[in-house]
Amino acid sequence: MNDSFARQVDYLRISITDRCNERCLYCMPQGYKGWQRTQDHLTAEEIIRIVGVAARLGFRKFRLTGGEPLLRPDIVEIVAGMKAITGVETIGLSTNGTKLSTLAGPLRAAGMRTANISLDALDPKIYRTVTGGDVESVFAGIRAAIAAGYERVKLNCVLMRGVNEQEIWPLVMYAAEQELPLRFIELMPLTRTDVLTEKNFLPVGEAMQRIAEHDELVPKPETKIGNGPARYFRLKRTGALVGFIGALTNLHFCESCNKMRLTADGKIRPCLGDHGEIDLRPALNHADRETQLHEKFLEALRAKPLEHLFRSQYQPLRPMTAIGG
Ligand code: SAM
Repeated sequence: MNDSFARQVDYLRISITDRCNERCLYCMPQGYKGWQRTQDHLTAEEIIRIVGVAARLGFRKFRLTGGEPLLRPDIVEIVAGMKAITGVETIGLSTNGTKLSTLAGPLRAAGMRTANISLDALDPKIYRTVTGGDVESVFAGIRAAIAAGYERVKLNCVLMRGVNEQEIWPLVMYAAEQELPLRFIELMPLTRTDVLTEKNFLPVGEAMQRIAEHDELVPKPETKIGNGPARYFRLKRTGALVGFIGALTNLHFCESCNKMRLTADGKIRPCLGDHGEIDLRPALNHADRETQLHEKFLEALRAKPLEHLFRSQYQPLRPMTAIGG
């Protein structure tokens, strides 16, 4: 499917819950009380039905996210149902990793192929400051994902000046040791907390400079790992593969955007950095559900904007935890 700007859109990120067992500074405003009612979340059956319509329209890549998707008790059932759909080529997971030590195996067996694991710091104290969680459980989750034979495990770190900037090089070393690609992500204005200020923003260009103080970054423009917008570099000495997602500083960021999002409460969000959403609930309740869902996807595709509004007037309404990362 092509959008109005001739971009091929074939990637759907599906949030299956807005709940999370961590409290990342950049994702959920402190004291957040805006939880959706779980009875308003799409059921497993509804998610699988929507994926079927999306696959018939040409979507090929799917990712389960949240909130924290591993908190959803029927996630294995969802993955198995999606895998059975013709046209579904890959199912990936975005997770904080804290529950992967028990779930990596069952999810892999059900058809999950790849896992992106958030890791904002190695230092337990810094990790706790950023996420409120325990980094040891993430290390255990990473080991479990590797042992379960995922086709690809990637690490993600959101950059925050004054919070985890000293972790940049240790994270690179860890990724090199584990032989896992690591991506540094620029902070996007997705919460209302005072955590997200100009003062806390650390551009990916600066992260690259800091890494270059330790090792030479060799550009790998041909490298495409998964479906994301990262620009990759191989480090000459350590061999680490490091990607940079410059959602704010890369002015060409949206040119190759291939994705749309589905929120846990059933809204298609054509662009993360634009408030437009298309509610699938009326279509799901309609007697001719399949046709109605099909139409809603086409409407979402037409509504996909040329670029996000993060550099201009964007004011967060729904925080990231409610949209789905
Ligand atoms: N809980 C899962 C996790 O930790 O990966 C999945 C959801 S999380 C919202 C997905 C991704 O979004 C994570 O890599 C997270 O770091 C990133 N993210 C959340 N808020 C962000 C923000 N304000 N700016 C940049 N990335 C953000």
